[in-house]
Amino acid sequence: MNTPEISDSGRYALWEDADSAAVFVCRRCGDCCNGQGGIVLCSKDSERLATHLGLSLFAFHAQYTEEVRGKRRLVCGGSGSCVFSSGCGCSVHEAKPDVCRAWPFFRGNLTDPSSLAMAKAGCPGIHAAADFAGFAQAGARYLLVRGICLPPNETASPAALLPEQFLWRIAEEDTLPYMGTRTEEVQ
Ligand code: SF4
Ligand code: SF4
Repeated sequence: MNTPEISDSGRYALWEDADSAAVFVCRRCGDCCNGQGGIVLCSKDSERLATHLGLSLFAFHAQYTEEVRGKRRLVCGGSGSCVFSSGCGCSVHEAKPDVCRAWPFFRGNLTDPSSLAMAKAGCPGIHAAADFAGFAQAGARYLLVRGICLPPNETASPAALLPEQFLWRIAEEDTLPYMGTRTEEVQ
């Protein structure tokens, strides 16, 4: 199958109408903003956040990030939550990193039913009744419409994101239910 053009507005309009709320609606419990080290940034995240905060890239990196094993990630605040967690939401919501925008449509949850089952247990926003195939397809379309995918040519990219081509395959798959081969196919 050929990868469709991003400019295919008819398909996008259809997907915009397709309701990801059928599988996920954030309950704003804040749990996914707790903990150490989960938010890995790609270069466009750093640039977006630095601009949003009115900082140079250097100052943003120095103040809000750390580099661990070759990957740049957000630091935690004093409470152990993400440095940008306000306790009742995200203080940089409009500019938040792609992995935050992608949740719960992470690589694992779109390619492995057992990973989705664990995510359901931890995130009250994922509908308990959402089936894997429907969740994966809604998620892939949600990510493509918003341009959230693994940046090509960045070796230190967030592992939670999928390559754009792979998202297209899930988004257009007509072999529902799940065929059991996706995890092995992801490069
Ligand atoms: S854990 Fe789920 S429901 Fe809670 S804030 Fe995060 S995404 Fe929303
Ligand atoms: S950037 Fe915002 S959404 Fe992402 S972990 Fe931090 S507080 Fe949560």
